[in-house]
Amino acid sequence: MVGRRLVCASANPDKVREINEILASCGVVLEPRPPTIPDVEEDAATLEGNARLKAVAIAEATGAAALADDTGLEVNALGGAPGVRSARYAGEPSNSELNIAKLLADLNAAGAITPDQRRARFRTVVLIRWPDGSETIAEGTVAGVIATERQGEGGFGYDPVFAPDEGDGRTFAEMDPSEKHEISHRGRALRLLALELS
Ligand code: IMP
Repeated sequence: MVGRRLVCASANPDKVREINEILASCGVVLEPRPPTIPDVEEDAATLEGNARLKAVAIAEATGAAALADDTGLEVNALGGAPGVRSARYAGEPSNSELNIAKLLADLNAAGAITPDQRRARFRTVVLIRWPDGSETIAEGTVAGVIATERQGEGGFGYDPVFAPDEGDGRTFAEMDPSEKHEISHRGRALRLLALELS
């Protein structure tokens, strides 16, 4: 695997850095997505489908292998929503503050008050599309509880309202990045991917 070219479908530098930190152990160096390649419409019905749409677009545009990830927050009391629609739960354009406000309102409307009623998990699918059309796929999850209000300033997305089971009650937004990556859905999916590559 060492030395093979791998392009990241995400143009987000923080995400590329995080993925590189985790994949460094298997000698992979990820390149950021060339800025000339436009965003892909993420309209598949599953996380894997969306990851594939993004990876195929980059693989075809660059001729190199491409890595894409897609994440969803699955809330039991909401039948698994927002799931694959997590980024645009409160509508377009994607807005984390509005997404959190809608999530808390929907849970209240569903009568989900106690921690047991507010169970949820993050799920990430990471997919590499190789130039010959084959794929390497890995998945990571972390289970937890949706807090009743925002807690913490760190992280991004739904972090201020997600308290992982494997913690001490703090939300992801109250943890150091390294503490979060150790147990996070994306960290787990990427470490599994690294194992498959090595
Ligand atoms: P994406 O697949 O990384 O674009 O994420 C889809 C949605 O889930 C977006 O609304 C993100 O803000 C949210 N999300 C993804 N990863 C995380 C995370 O680690 N913490 C909190 N929210 C996340």
